[in-house]
Amino acid sequence: MSESPQPTPIRVTVVGALGRMGQESVRALSSDSRFEVVGAVDRSGAGQTLASVLQIPSEVVVTDILSECLDQHPADVLLDFTHFSSAPDHAMRAMKRGLAVVIGTSGLRQPDVRTLVQTCQETGQPCLLVPNFAIGAVLMMRFAEMAAAYFPHAEVIERHGHHKLDAPSGTGRHTATLISQHRAETPREPQGAVEAVAGARGAKVDMVPVHSLRLPGSVAHQEVLFGGPGELLTIKHDSYDRASFMGGVKLACAQVRSLSGFVTGLDAVLF
Ligand code: NAD
Repeated sequence: MSESPQPTPIRVTVVGALGRMGQESVRALSSDSRFEVVGAVDRSGAGQTLASVLQIPSEVVVTDILSECLDQHPADVLLDFTHFSSAPDHAMRAMKRGLAVVIGTSGLRQPDVRTLVQTCQETGQPCLLVPNFAIGAVLMMRFAEMAAAYFPHAEVIERHGHHKLDAPSGTGRHTATLISQHRAETPREPQGAVEAVAGARGAKVDMVPVHSLRLPGSVAHQEVLFGGPGELLTIKHDSYDRASFMGGVKLACAQVRSLSGFVTGLDAVLF
C-alpha cells in the first residue's frame, strides 16, 4: 500500500529572528515538520547561520534586508516579532509580495493598523495581529468578555519584564476593548474624584483602567478584576516561559492563509 504524501511544509520567514520571541519561534517552527523556516531577518547578527546561533540544523543565513530575503527565498507566511515602529512596514512589504502575515509585535499605532487594513484589501492577503499567543491568555480574554456583561466595574492589571518597551501591553489593551464592547454600561467616577498624581488610576483604554507593572523576573501576567456588590471576580493568567506562546504561534502560522482581511486575536483561528 502506498503511503499518502506528506503535505508541503508552510514556508515561514521570521523577522526579529534573533530576538527572544523570534528565537523561540524559529526553534518551535523548525522542529515541526508542518513548517519550514526559509528566511530569518534581524537588524543584528546578519551573516550568521541559524545553525550557528541557535544550534539547530538550518543553513538559513540571517539577513538585515527584508526585501532581499523575500525576493531570494520565497515564503508563504511572514512572522514578525520586532518593534511597533517597523512591524507595519514589514507586513506591508510581505503582503505586496503575496505573503500572509502574522504580527506578534505589540504596541502598533492605530494609523498603522488602518494602513494595514487597506493593504489587506489592496493585496487580497490576510494579516493576523495577535496580542497574545498563549492559549490560556486567549481564554482569559474570552472569560473577561463574558464577565463584562454582568460586571461593568472592571480593571486590568498587567505585568511584564522591565525590558518591555510599550505600555500598556497589547493583551491589556485588547482585554480593555473587549470589556468596553461587552458591558452594558460604563461606570462613572464618583463626583469630586481627583487623581492627585497623574496615572494613579491607570491608563484608560476605552474607559477601562489598565495598570502596567514592569518588573524583572516577569514574563507576561495579567489579572482582570470585576467588582460587584459584595463580591470580586478575578480572572488571572500567567505566562512563566515563552514556550507558552509557541502553540499559538504555530496555530497562527498554520491557519493565517485561511483568513481574509485584517484580523485581530488568536480567537480567529482557535474557536
Ligand atoms: P527582543 O527585543 O528580544 O527582539 C526583537 C528583535 O527584533 C531583536 O533581535 C531586534 O534586533 C529585531 N528588530 C527590531 N527592529 C527590527 C527591524 N526594523 N528589522 C529587523 N529586525 C529588527 O523583543 P521580544 O521580547 O522578542 O519581543 C518582540 C515583540 O514581540 C515585542 O513587541 C513584544 O511586546 C512582542 N511580544 C508579543 C507576544 C505575543 O504573544 N504576541 C509575546 C511576547 C512578546
